[in-house]
Amino acid sequence: METSYLQKTPTSLQLHNEAKQFIPGGVTANIKFFAPYPIVMNRAGGAYLYDVDQNPYIDYNLCYGALILGHGNERVTAAVREQLATMGTTIFGTPHRLETEMAKLLIDLYPGIESVRYTNSGLEATLLAIRLATAWTGRKKLAKFEGHYHGGYDQVLISVHPSERERNHPPAVKPDSLGLPDYYTENTVVLPFNDLEQTAEILKKHRHEIAAVILEPVQGGYLPPDLAFLRGVRELTKEYGMVLIFDEVKTGFRVGLSGAQGRYGVTPDLTALGKVLGGGFPIGAVGGQREIMELCSPARGADILSNDPHQSSPSDTEILFHSGTYNGHPMILAAGLATIRSLQQPGTYAQLEEGTMKLRRGMEEILDRFGIPGHTVGEGSIFNIVLADQRVKQIQDVLRSDLSLRKELDVALLSQGIYIKPLNRFSLSTAHRSEVIHETLERFEQGVKRLAKG
Ligand code: PMP
Repeated sequence: METSYLQKTPTSLQLHNEAKQFIPGGVTANIKFFAPYPIVMNRAGGAYLYDVDQNPYIDYNLCYGALILGHGNERVTAAVREQLATMGTTIFGTPHRLETEMAKLLIDLYPGIESVRYTNSGLEATLLAIRLATAWTGRKKLAKFEGHYHGGYDQVLISVHPSERERNHPPAVKPDSLGLPDYYTENTVVLPFNDLEQTAEILKKHRHEIAAVILEPVQGGYLPPDLAFLRGVRELTKEYGMVLIFDEVKTGFRVGLSGAQGRYGVTPDLTALGKVLGGGFPIGAVGGQREIMELCSPARGADILSNDPHQSSPSDTEILFHSGTYNGHPMILAAGLATIRSLQQPGTYAQLEEGTMKLRRGMEEILDRFGIPGHTVGEGSIFNIVLADQRVKQIQDVLRSDLSLRKELDVALLSQGIYIKPLNRFSLSTAHRSEVIHETLERFEQGVKRLAKG
């Protein structure tokens, strides 16, 4: 164990031990835990996080990729302050203008979006998308890809963390949590990412039962799709009448203003968004084909301008239910709009990607110099380090890499003041300017040196 980790973060350990007495594992989301204990932060700015022992960290987690403009971006915080001041409240609980303003922007930017509903998280967005697909097709099975995460609920907590399997074996249906009813394992079909042949075979076998195929177009935000694979999945779903859902919670506004669908030129039927969309506040959204989205319209069939008291509205069972006390929260939409407007400034993505490539190349050069077999893999401003000789294309390749050395590396990096969640991907923000990247590479070299020394 890295002794300097323990020496540098005594207050984090003390606070974690206290939290454990009142909160299971001392964390409010399982993903926030890692060994030996998570670092407790209490301040941030730009590319930096500061922990309760005053140690600075260059943040490459960025709230799991959400903070694309870094911490405390002035445009975003000003928009939130102004919104709060002009509203005279924190929320109306009624329709308001920003809901339509954001919807128009999303429709403008995303080829697959013609109509929008908001949720409070990415989880709720994929849940609504799957419910829409189920209602639209009248079928009950969901096809998802091995290693793809769509939120922490029953229907999709399957084979996100698969076991290793033989290359030519189909992926197994593996529940990822205690407490999942058998219904979901029985009605889920698991597919291998970036393997069109096997995917086509499995989809064909279940072609009359599958309502939707859901996927992260860039797996885990860092494993890019083969273009032929993505196009093939689009064609197959069309042929079999299945709804294609792109879960762009990570890729939305990350791999470009129009997400993965814009970058690769493949248009899904439904899109789930989250993370960057909220400018650091909780949000999700579903957008897609108007006819499918209209399933959740309570005004469907009713002429709202008519005063005819005999006109009937559709009954509840004819409408797809979607609700949420805080959906379309005005403060959050103000933060999201300010974020997207900043991202729309020319050159933003080019600068982000240039910085990311410089960091990746620098890290690869350092690993190479210290004789550690590994490389980086990613898309846009997200990447990961994979300690393996071979290039990786799917989760099975990642499972075969040296994950225990990677964990050691991550703890060494934390001790050097590079913040990532161990084994997780690296995300960059516009605050990660060239001097920050330079500093990161110096710290990275120190971390790798410690690792090489053993
Ligand atoms: N889908 C993807 C692709 C995600 O990365 C995440 C979050 N990591 C979710 C869904 C769930 O989003 P949330 O945590 O906002 O519920």
